Amino acid sequence: MPARAQGFGVLMLLLAGSAGGCASQAEAPSERVVVVGFDGLDYGALERYASRLPTFRRFLAEGAHAEMQVTSPIMSPIVWTTMASGYPAEVHGVGGWTNGRGRSFTGADVRVQRLWDVVSGAGHESLVAGWLMTWPAPIVRGHSLSDRFVWSHPMSRDNAREDFEEEREATTYPDSLGTLASELMPDAEWLAASPLAYQIAAYGAPSHPLGRDETHTRVFEALWPESDAALSVLYLNGADQVSHLYWPFQDPDAQRAIRLDPTAHKRQVDDLQRRHPNQTLPPYGETGLTAADLGEAARWVPDYYVYLDGVLDRVWTLVGPDTTLVLLSDHGFQCSSTKPLVVGGHRGVAVFAAVGPRVRARARGEAHVFDVAPTLYALLGLPAAEDMPGHVLHDLFDVEEQPRIASRVLQRGAIEVGEGESAGDDALRSQLEALGYLDESGRPNAAIGESRRNTNVVVDDKAP
Ligand SMILES: [Zn+2]
Repeated sequence: MPARAQGFGVLMLLLAGSAGGCASQAEAPSERVVVVGFDGLDYGALERYASRLPTFRRFLAEGAHAEMQVTSPIMSPIVWTTMASGYPAEVHGVGGWTNGRGRSFTGADVRVQRLWDVVSGAGHESLVAGWLMTWPAPIVRGHSLSDRFVWSHPMSRDNAREDFEEEREATTYPDSLGTLASELMPDAEWLAASPLAYQIAAYGAPSHPLGRDETHTRVFEALWPESDAALSVLYLNGADQVSHLYWPFQDPDAQRAIRLDPTAHKRQVDDLQRRHPNQTLPPYGETGLTAADLGEAARWVPDYYVYLDGVLDRVWTLVGPDTTLVLLSDHGFQCSSTKPLVVGGHRGVAVFAAVGPRVRARARGEAHVFDVAPTLYALLGLPAAEDMPGHVLHDLFDVEEQPRIASRVLQRGAIEVGEGESAGDDALRSQLEALGYLDESGRPNAAIGESRRNTNVVVDDKAP
């Protein structure tokens, strides 16, 4: 903590409580910042499929990037909230998918300012498209589409929507954005014409992530041209979801094991079923996956990456070279340590990559998930806080950091981190179950990861 900032910090702590404080003193950010978050995007897969991913390849070659270490437990709601705030779970308030007492974590649990709160407080616009833990939709200058918007709509226009009506409260800000976003949702015809149609047919339209990711992307594309947003964030879940179920089938070691032993996959499936009898059968679980099935099974993950490469191309083309464009993931993937042929598990190395006017071209560095928010604050010309553990990534950016304020924590208290008994919100819960994130009793799916097991975090309740 720089000594010169301390007196200033005390003053700013008082201001921090008053809704971001000093809008009149804010200067306009010199350049706009766009963040695209790809849940579960893995450097290893980007490399393995580079020949099919021309946009990612060019982005990584021309821009700056770092292997990013993430905090444990590696749970998406925790990590995305850390990246948006600069704080660990014990401080930001989101402890996983559900707390220990039957309730889903939501944006209402967040006890710290996130980037868009601060940007709004400084008088600038934000554009939030689907970032995790943004329900109720944040009230910002600009627009916010909460992550629950797509969860509250069956991802096919052919499905009855009445059941979902009550879940649509506060899924967008302003409310009128909900009408636009509904119109932008891809219809069954579009989904059927997609190169991923074979996945949707196998998986079921409401559960496959393509419709949700495409909706988030279209909302960003629709709002950007009219927007002055200093900060835009776009979140896409599909790489994570597809990788949980299909990662092993494209992994060279797992492929070798399946080719050498035609019953190896089935034995692991059966063992999994014995331990977790209520769990949905994994892909190819009925018969076991053999060498003959590998060609088809191995396509799922790379084909989804090809779709994401197209999304990146659309976004990069739209925002142009004068915008700082940052790519993030919250973790990578690897074969599960216990069932390496059946499920993919989270890997603690995530993607941080950037292009733009203040990016040190072709720079390579080290990053930690705590560094994301301080670096984005620096790019936005806004102060991070002294109680954020991260640093500005000066190796990757030519950027000055503003003197930090004392804190961007709004409230402190005990939180529960880890799995829950049951999720209270039925519609969201059934969606999470359908995707395999939760089991039938609302617990995080044990097969889907070491990553979602119960973890007790000792809460430091002593405010500075
Ligand atoms: Zn994730």
